[in-house]
Amino acid sequence: MNAIETLHLTKRYGPKTAVDSLCLHVENGELFALLGVNGAGKTTTIRMLSCLVRPTSGDALILGGSVLTSPETVKRRISVSPQETAVAQNLTVVENLELMAGIYGLLDRKKRAQQVVKELGLEEIVENKAKVLSGGWQRRLSIAMALITEPEVLFLDEPTLGLDVLARRELWEVIRALRGRTTVVLTTHYLEEAEALSDHVGIMAAGRLQAVGTPEELKQRAGTSDFEEAFIRLASKKGAA
Ligand code: ATP
Repeated sequence: MNAIETLHLTKRYGPKTAVDSLCLHVENGELFALLGVNGAGKTTTIRMLSCLVRPTSGDALILGGSVLTSPETVKRRISVSPQETAVAQNLTVVENLELMAGIYGLLDRKKRAQQVVKELGLEEIVENKAKVLSGGWQRRLSIAMALITEPEVLFLDEPTLGLDVLARRELWEVIRALRGRTTVVLTTHYLEEAEALSDHVGIMAAGRLQAVGTPEELKQRAGTSDFEEAFIRLASKKGAA
């Protein structure tokens, strides 16, 4: 079953077409990476799929619900961890989690916060204020906050941006652990991250989907064993997938 299906999803800003008739599907429980150079349309796509931005035309079905006609239903089943972290810096880790649980009206806020602390391995920093956390821990907390509602689909916009290589690898393990139970769509500029984590990868350029497949399939299609080289060849290719 598809968790996500986009039907000629399009977003225009004045004369600029940020996302151009995007048709793709993401299977239930898989990890799907959206790749593309700056301005390719990845963030706009994620914003439309998470009902933050209304498409100009086309539609997207999230777990069968339309972002156009049933955005409230869709929003209850998804979560977003955006590029700009939504962590309250003066609150502790556990306070941030309980606050988020409260915002979503969860009945047992404390219990749910403790579950997420355990799930994401936040025990050692649970009483620390967010403002003293390293970038890696901040990002992990941001993902924990997005997971508090047990979303069926999670959108991660550049989850490891700016992290050092060790923090990034640790976060990969967190993301990997979600596979199978949560459908994850992530955007990244780190090609080795997309290759290591994803079941399928979509490559966007100038708002259009240029190629989609498993990392292995994309390398084969581009005629190279190097994923970065495959990305360069496919991202600059003219025409749709
Ligand atoms: P990056 O990797 O730099 O984050 P991206 O692939 O996420 O890029 P988007 O942020 O989706 O790309 O932007 C796609 C295009 O749409 C860009 O040309 C951008 O300038 C334009 N765009 C995005 N949001 C707006 C907006 N609110 N108003 C006008 N143009 C916008």
